[in-house]
Amino acid sequence: MMNRRRFLCTAASGAAMFVGVPRLLGVAAKYDLLIKGGRVIDPSMRLDAVRDVAISDGRIAAVETSITTDVVETIDARGKIVAPGLIDIHTHCARSGEGPGLVLQDGVTGWIDAGSQGADHVADTIAVAKTSPQQGRVLINVGRAGILSDGDTMDINRADVAALRDAIARNRDFIVGIKARLSRDVAGANDYEVLRRAQEVATAFNLPVMIHMGQTTSALSRLMNLLKPGDIVTHMFAPPPNSIVDENGHILPEVLAARRRGVWFDVGNGQTGHMRWDTIESIMKTGFWPDTFSTDWNSNSRTTGVIDLPNCMSKLLGLGMPVSAAIACATLNASRTFEIFHDRGTLNVGAPADVVLLELRSGNFEFLDNYGNKRSGNQRFFPSGTVLGGKWIPRA
Ligand SMILES: [Zn+2]
Repeated sequence: MMNRRRFLCTAASGAAMFVGVPRLLGVAAKYDLLIKGGRVIDPSMRLDAVRDVAISDGRIAAVETSITTDVVETIDARGKIVAPGLIDIHTHCARSGEGPGLVLQDGVTGWIDAGSQGADHVADTIAVAKTSPQQGRVLINVGRAGILSDGDTMDINRADVAALRDAIARNRDFIVGIKARLSRDVAGANDYEVLRRAQEVATAFNLPVMIHMGQTTSALSRLMNLLKPGDIVTHMFAPPPNSIVDENGHILPEVLAARRRGVWFDVGNGQTGHMRWDTIESIMKTGFWPDTFSTDWNSNSRTTGVIDLPNCMSKLLGLGMPVSAAIACATLNASRTFEIFHDRGTLNVGAPADVVLLELRSGNFEFLDNYGNKRSGNQRFFPSGTVLGGKWIPRA
């Protein structure tokens, strides 16, 4: 009489025969984790379809219509969106040790702290980045004292080129760019000179500069001309003065030229002065849509109009942005901005297994700008769970 093992060995020809076999034979499961039945949206693969995603050894192992192989753990993702882990390129989550863990709960598997600290105290933010569960890096503020309530570079001597250069040289692995906050209440009339100094140092290290635009003293067109390919403009929806759109609803030619030469345009939701619905609407109408969403996250973001990155990603759905485009902004597009993320933002087989599960709920949702104005929308993304490096992190 043929025993069961023998039967399987001799009779199995189709793959389907092997369902459950590894367990029968006492062999280790083929995959560590299986995310089953979700709507997989992966703009890097132009994929939007119901798929199973299998993970092994911290990497994406298979994305297929139906995976029935034995696995250690299965997550039921039916009714949910399964996307690459979200990347937030403008946060302040390195201001405290709790930040990275909190945004991980929102599905953020990679973050940039955008200029919380300058040369004097950048070591504090780097220490947070070093112990972060997910990838975290910092932009150093061009102002050596970091963010100051009376203006980072209101005193131009704080834009200290030598101090900036030294700090970057000592921390090449964690400082991935320079942040220049240029609004009138931050830099006064120094905006152009602050950006020129930031660019002088950034160019020497081949690093990008992220500018915080909006309500600047100098004309935006003049500042735009100082930006090089790979630089980032955050707060792109900032209302006048010095918005990216003129009073007739036309995008400034210097802004279009900047995008054409490879400058990125980022949302940077934040809390004050960075987005107003009428400006957002006039910019969206031109078709000049953001490359990336970002929260400008702080520890109080839950209670401001930010809430979380998925909420910020939902704000343009009512203005014509398709779901897959919103996801592309927080995954594929964001992964292109900093080298550290170049292998992320994708569910391609072999990529690090950073995955987010989102619920796209229908209903009546209110979205806030930075001026207390509300817009209602009928769809909103909610974070529902995260996989980081192959490990399942449920919502707390
Ligand atoms: Zn910020």
